Amino acid sequence: MIDINQLKKEAQAIGLCLDDTQLEMFNRFAAMLVETNRQFNLTAIKTPQEVVTKHFVDSLTVFTAADISGGSKVIDIGTGAGFPGIPMLIYDSSLELTMLDSTGKKLDFVRNALSELGIDAQVIHGRAEELGRGDLRERFDFAVSRAVASLNALCEYCLPFVRTGGMFIALKGSKADDELAVSGTAIKTLGGKLVGSKQIALADKQTRNLVKIEKSSVTPPKYPRPSAQIFKKPL
Ligand code: SAH
Repeated sequence: MIDINQLKKEAQAIGLCLDDTQLEMFNRFAAMLVETNRQFNLTAIKTPQEVVTKHFVDSLTVFTAADISGGSKVIDIGTGAGFPGIPMLIYDSSLELTMLDSTGKKLDFVRNALSELGIDAQVIHGRAEELGRGDLRERFDFAVSRAVASLNALCEYCLPFVRTGGMFIALKGSKADDELAVSGTAIKTLGGKLVGSKQIALADKQTRNLVKIEKSSVTPPKYPRPSAQIFKKPL
């Protein structure tokens, strides 16, 4: 399905070593993704070569942003077809991963993929701004999220889930600095502190930015607000 050497090399280029078992798991996951994409539009990225760079290696870049130690509790907000969550779990199966999305159909795919690959994660169907007011609040060492919303709205989705001392890592494209410029109030209001943004270039030559926001204090109970307010009156 995928070119295993391409994946191995591109992972090495960001400092990560994948063993044969992991490479085989990525290969099986790619086959499921490409096959399911034929039936319904799961992701816009369709060729095996693109899947390697833009889904797999792109997801793995989170490990270069922070020391995500074994057993960490991680929540992936708006995981879609499983990104970055499933590649993270293939790389480190000891993570206690929760994957959340508001689209049930995509989560059906995620559940199938996890069971085919023999890895385990909690899969939750719902909206971040609602679930962030419940049991999962302030519970995670890390929140991660890719391609879900602009950074200020994303902070309101993600920071409530992170415990004080934990970290939210947003996987962003080349426009991260523009988004950061208008997210200062959101970060501060929600109990966050910007640690920095790490730029990384992948094999497709496009720039990614990993925006690291530490949870420095508990999120005030007023947040997250209902989604209409998040969009009408972004912090
Ligand atoms: N993270 C994946 C998917 C990105 S598409 C990737 O990078 O490939 C954005 C996803 O976020 C969609 O699957 C959508 O259903 C989900 N989403 C958007 N807003 C959400 C919200 N408020 N709560 C939960 N999921 C949300």
